[in-house]
Amino acid sequence: MPSLADQLAVLLNIEVASSPAIPGFCHATKARIQDPLPAPSTCRYCGGHVSFTTNDVFYGRQYGEWPWCYFCSACKAYVGCHPKTDIPLGTLADGATRKARNAAHAAFDPLWRGKGSPMKREHAYQWLSEALGIPRSVTHIGFFDQQTCERVVNAVGARSATSA
Ligand SMILES: [Zn+2]
Repeated sequence: MPSLADQLAVLLNIEVASSPAIPGFCHATKARIQDPLPAPSTCRYCGGHVSFTTNDVFYGRQYGEWPWCYFCSACKAYVGCHPKTDIPLGTLADGATRKARNAAHAAFDPLWRGKGSPMKREHAYQWLSEALGIPRSVTHIGFFDQQTCERVVNAVGARSATSA
């Protein structure tokens, strides 16, 4: 049974605004995302047009459980989306930035993720925000440039050195 909104949309022959026709899209999940970034429309590297698409455009086939992303076809910068939504995980990233963000996650995530991790997730992000001297609301590795990602790795390293 389609939802009342969907039935109405069919009846009135309208498309419901801001409701991408994506299988698995979840408005409730989208509404729960904290500090959501707006969808990029222009590439911050080359000024090219950014499209909302799936990652087979650069991988050759769809990867991951949620393949949706924002992609600049001119310079190939991209960023994935939060699962079940069209909210970007961060700002558009070129290859070097993606590599730096992966390294930052690899250093930082063990602080809160997995067995025996020393902090809860929110505590770890609060610590990172203080370590970097930036507001908590912008303390998301997906928002960071290469240099800030390197600071994350260094801060986690310094923390381990003092707590060991
Ligand atoms: Zn671009």
